[in-house]
Amino acid sequence: MPELRQVNLSVEEIPDKWYNIQADLPEPLPPPLDPETGESRIANLPKMLIGECLKQEFSQDRWIPIPEDLRSLYAQAGRPRPLFRALNLEKRLGTKARLYYKSEFYSPTGSHKVNTALAQCYYAQKEGFERLTTETGAGQWGTALAYAAALTGMKCTVYWVRAVYSWKPQRRNLMKLFGAEVFASPSDKTEFGRKLFSKDPNHPGSLGIAISEGLEDSLKDPKATYSLGSVLNHVLTHQTIIGLETQKQFEKFGDYPDIMIACLGGGSNFGGFTLPFLGEVLTKGKKIRFIGAQSQVAPNLQGEYRYDFADYAEMTPLLKMYTLGHHLNMAPIKGDGLRYHACSPLLSFLRHKGYIDTIAYPGDEKKVFGLMRDFVRAEGFLPAPESAYAIACAIEEAKKPENAGKAIAFNISGHGFMDMDGYDEVLKF
Ligand SMILES: *Cc1c(COP(=O)(O)O)cnc(C)c1O
Repeated sequence: MPELRQVNLSVEEIPDKWYNIQADLPEPLPPPLDPETGESRIANLPKMLIGECLKQEFSQDRWIPIPEDLRSLYAQAGRPRPLFRALNLEKRLGTKARLYYKSEFYSPTGSHKVNTALAQCYYAQKEGFERLTTETGAGQWGTALAYAAALTGMKCTVYWVRAVYSWKPQRRNLMKLFGAEVFASPSDKTEFGRKLFSKDPNHPGSLGIAISEGLEDSLKDPKATYSLGSVLNHVLTHQTIIGLETQKQFEKFGDYPDIMIACLGGGSNFGGFTLPFLGEVLTKGKKIRFIGAQSQVAPNLQGEYRYDFADYAEMTPLLKMYTLGHHLNMAPIKGDGLRYHACSPLLSFLRHKGYIDTIAYPGDEKKVFGLMRDFVRAEGFLPAPESAYAIACAIEEAKKPENAGKAIAFNISGHGFMDMDGYDEVLKF
């Protein structure tokens, strides 16, 4: 037999529960707080979040069952996804480390975000909603929600930061093909948006403005609910499907990771990939080094551990997290999904306790994309620009003499088929 290059699971082996690490933390997570002035953000949460998601946000249950119909949707989305051994890349690098990568690039929309989008649409529909509203920055979240809405027979409205809306027509058209309404934000559809739009129809917009529009839209329509794609506990819990599959796959490989790496913007793919393993570190004494790969334009894991808002417009409660400040201006990068000012409270807490390391790469992305090219030429899969950060970090770790003999696992959060222009700008084909 040639050496094993891939382990996959059968459809029956799709996990039937998500892992909620809150049950295994050494002490409870610091709770969300209200700011000293203004209306209560915490009291507003039930209006902002889907009921089941809000329940999961604070749940202390170790395991949260995945409903059968949702497991079936996961199968429809192509789960489980293979864990590959990067034999070609190992050879190309001449490393003595064993490299493994998880293939979220097989997602129908191009990112891991479908894992929570499907869950949120499923619950929203159960609770009687007919429409989901959201904002999107890079476009991956809006596309994932548009896809999930289509599969569950829901309507979907996406407010997309105008500056990005204008230069990503392909992703915009994909959302529309899935049946979503897509508006450049600020738009003339909401009161908040109209104030800015009427003064400047070419206003470039921002994530904060788009969030405000999405929230206003959903609050005004009793049949609509708002949906968030990263940062929050329930989103990370949904994403643990990635790590739970990976655990079973490592068993079948007869190996166990010494180092685990994922890119980290708000933390959902990093958390999804690592939390089940972090649980084993907390409860079973396993030793794994976890590294979040970031950009120097938004190295939030190197920020301060303190209470901050999760959004620009200050509509969320204050969350205790590593933050660079919620009004930080971040230079544009192609790995746009990594441009977020803070890291999810769950992962921030674990970093504060010493479990998570980080590295941040230069904003010109030449180094990251250069290393990504080695991966593409060896393994043949085209990663999303964000995922290239995890690949770059894994390659650098594999080259370190002290990591000879170690197993290094990295998550490839998405594919880059809609990002070739960005790659061209940096790599100059
Ligand atoms: C959104 C996105 C990210 C960053 O978000 P996280 O919540 O940190 O995972 C990374 N990779 C891809 C492909 C994305 O779409």
